[in-house]
Amino acid sequence: MSTFQAPKGTYDLIPPRSAVFLAVRDTIATQVRNAGYGYVETPGFEDVNLFARGVGESTDIVTKEMYTLTTKGGDQLALRPEGTASVLRAALQANLHKQGNLPVKLWYSGSYYRYERAQAGRYRHFSQVGAEAIGAEDPALDAELIILADQAYRALGLRQYRILLNSLGDKECRPVYREALQTFLRGLDLDEETLRRAEINPLRVLDDKRVDVQKQLVDAPLLRDYLCDACKAYHEQVRELITAAGVVFEDDLKLVRGLDYYTRTTFEFVHDGLGSQSAVGGGGRYDGLSEMIGGPALPSVGWALGVDRTVLALEAEGVTLDLPAPTSVFAVALGEEARRVLFGKVTELRRAGIAADFSFGGKGLKGSMKDANRSGARLTLVAGERDLAEGVVQLKDMESGEQRAVALDEVLEAVRAQLA
Ligand code: AMP
Repeated sequence: MSTFQAPKGTYDLIPPRSAVFLAVRDTIATQVRNAGYGYVETPGFEDVNLFARGVGESTDIVTKEMYTLTTKGGDQLALRPEGTASVLRAALQANLHKQGNLPVKLWYSGSYYRYERAQAGRYRHFSQVGAEAIGAEDPALDAELIILADQAYRALGLRQYRILLNSLGDKECRPVYREALQTFLRGLDLDEETLRRAEINPLRVLDDKRVDVQKQLVDAPLLRDYLCDACKAYHEQVRELITAAGVVFEDDLKLVRGLDYYTRTTFEFVHDGLGSQSAVGGGGRYDGLSEMIGGPALPSVGWALGVDRTVLALEAEGVTLDLPAPTSVFAVALGEEARRVLFGKVTELRRAGIAADFSFGGKGLKGSMKDANRSGARLTLVAGERDLAEGVVQLKDMESGEQRAVALDEVLEAVRAQLA
């Protein structure tokens, strides 16, 4: 072991588990690409104020969890704790919203950083794949995103997840509710910090996980009873569209989520096999965010799905993805001449698009065959001096155990035929 370890709250993705991560990313990406979302990549750090303003000054993410730094040039930066603010910033900066075709639909995939209390499923560095539809207010867009996320989880073979859905209202109705909730919260027996939170961001108190707090919240006013007609109608349409698509969801009237920018549609995907860190993904509508970061009014909706937790969910359900073996053909060379010839064959196979690997390190037959087994390859090419003298290599099918001699210049064809 080296003197150094991965920093607290982080871990390394290593084979073979790392292949599952890639497959999860790919599966999610396939859904959004297939629905017209274009790939966007933004820097891993941004002006700290983008998040302070965008995510919200009073959120845990901004007050406690951001990795901030001052550069040698004096810039105040933060490692990105989430994707939406950056993606919207990038879209605004490139004037994508002025090119006449709204919504601008973007997807992304990358690393995010939060200085959280590390525990199972909750890391300081984690991966998300996200999708944002910027610049349109249309319940079908909210529905599209929920359906796509559901499809991604289904495609992965997950079953034990639930979709929680709520509406947070808009700038007409939410302030009225906010006041009613605040009045209610002031009458409760809460600790000082929670009371302070009730003054700055009362909706977040609903999200408090403590049992004694939840007990007191049983009779809290519900946003649903305060939604204006426009928000009600909008929410009803989202519910109808996803229901028609066969997506099962639960109305969760207390679902708020940890970021300030959400309006109207809010949703979370939770998995029942994950313990306390059960949210595998979440998102919603953020009609006011663009203006909060200095842009024009651009009603938008999006989600981010956590790759780490999705992998944990697969493991919790015992789902094994059907991943193709990374190597189809493994070459075992016995002797110098065979090394030269088979190394050439491996290159030829790779150039023809066939995944091939080679027994490196000058091992003997036994060690090399172990490598071949470990690689998961369907076929092995074995050659020693006698084979070469006859102008052949041995092609072995690792499943059936059958082996036959193949002429050197027919290796590619023979391999192709046998893999087909
Ligand atoms: P959020 O922006 O907090 O809604 O996060 C969206 C998704 O990212 C969550 O549902 C999680 O799957 C994942 N996520 C957020 N924070 C973490 C974390 N600290 N560790 C692992 N995954 C996380």
